[in-house]
Amino acid sequence: MTSNTSKLKDHKLYKKKGLVASPFNDKLGDVISLTSWTKNRMPEYLWLGLILDQYGRTDGMKKTQSLLHEIANFTDSINHPRLSDILRLNDNEQEKIYKIISTHVDSVVISPLTIICNIEKYPTFYEFFNQCNISVEQRLDTLSNAIKIYSPHQSDEATDLRYLAMNLLLFKGKIHISDNCPNVFDAYKNYPNTEHSDPKMSSYRPSIRSSEGIDLNFIETPDGPQIIPIDTSFADYFWREMGLISSCETFSIDHKSNTNDYAEFIEKFQKIIHFITVENKDKSLSEDKFDVIVGSSTYALKIFKEIHDNSLGNSIISRMGIRTIIEVYIILKYLLKKEEKIPKIWEEYKIYGMGNYKLILLKAREKEAKETSHFVPFIADILVNEIKWEEFIDIDLKYFNKTGIREKSIEIGEKDLFDTYYDYDSNFAHGLWGAVRESSMLACNNSCHFNHIVPDSHCAQNLPDTMTDCLDTMSKLLDLLDDLFKIPESLMP
Ligand SMILES: [Zn+2]
Repeated sequence: MTSNTSKLKDHKLYKKKGLVASPFNDKLGDVISLTSWTKNRMPEYLWLGLILDQYGRTDGMKKTQSLLHEIANFTDSINHPRLSDILRLNDNEQEKIYKIISTHVDSVVISPLTIICNIEKYPTFYEFFNQCNISVEQRLDTLSNAIKIYSPHQSDEATDLRYLAMNLLLFKGKIHISDNCPNVFDAYKNYPNTEHSDPKMSSYRPSIRSSEGIDLNFIETPDGPQIIPIDTSFADYFWREMGLISSCETFSIDHKSNTNDYAEFIEKFQKIIHFITVENKDKSLSEDKFDVIVGSSTYALKIFKEIHDNSLGNSIISRMGIRTIIEVYIILKYLLKKEEKIPKIWEEYKIYGMGNYKLILLKAREKEAKETSHFVPFIADILVNEIKWEEFIDIDLKYFNKTGIREKSIEIGEKDLFDTYYDYDSNFAHGLWGAVRESSMLACNNSCHFNHIVPDSHCAQNLPDTMTDCLDTMSKLLDLLDDLFKIPESLMP
């Protein structure tokens, strides 16, 4: 569970825009365009990571710092040891830098990068570091391992790399640390010679990371430092090439099915509906209220039974099912609350529903009917005209009683039900990206495929079971029926 994230109350609500802005975006969103360490920056410094990985932290730090020190003295053309900046230099400068590197480390350590920096695109680098005796698989394995190590942006290893990223500026005397930040000064001075296990590192590491993160957006100009968008073309190229030469490692989650048997509950609920109908035949013959309560409860029961009988608890469709069950419960409770002030609310509710049907019917009449369509105008025609002639039915394009389901849930004291389930399941009903991602896209575990997701074309992944939540809502509905119709104890589940 993420602990260092803002709470909902820390976010800012812009009601007119319909936006809940995160605290960070609200204050800095227009100023800083964040780049991701892993996606945009890490590939640039991975060559230094290969050295640290090969020689271990102590020796690796000494070697990388020595070679960076020499590079800093050799050229003013680059301020960061970004591979793309080095690769952009002329052949002569590139060769000199590669020679500096190879006087401190064995060139074989850098060689895995030749699968990215190939002969066509970067011939000088390739000719210097290519080792014919190392197979593509070996190079890929080494790079893949390094990516795994240096990708988590707050890890000790990534922080080492982020420290080295600042070394050219450090050696050129271009890092100015304010007197008010003695900790940052100590961090830069002592970082390479302090073990990660030393307690002081717990304050050094964040200082290094934050200065590396802030630095990259700024360049020095005659008018002072200016914010520029970072060039991510090399990193984009790196991830694309790494992705194309290595296979996906997708995994799917198999959520357990709820093995409880709900058949008895469903059967008893069916008997209760039957009992209520028989016992209240006079109301059934004449009351809109009775129709709406018992009809809507039956509708919810049929959905629950369909999910149960077809073992759909782990499916996408069951999320739409439970959303509807919740909506039925909320609307019934809402109508019961409103009936005192609006006695005709039950009839209005039926007419509202039929108005919706009428709109679809009117549109359908203007088109050629398709025989296989699941909307059958003939049936809709009968239903719309059942209560009254359709010419007397208006079409209300808004929510029933002008309030959405959220407002209705608040009014009846069931906002938790809305917040926790209805809102979540609406994502599935509307096919929004959160639901698509959770249900239909698999994560790829290959560290060379940054944030890669793959369509679940074999339908290997399911979703957490909805049956318990369905049952809880159906039980609430049953309590509501019990209050209204005094169901005998012997019939209750
Ligand atoms: Zn992949």
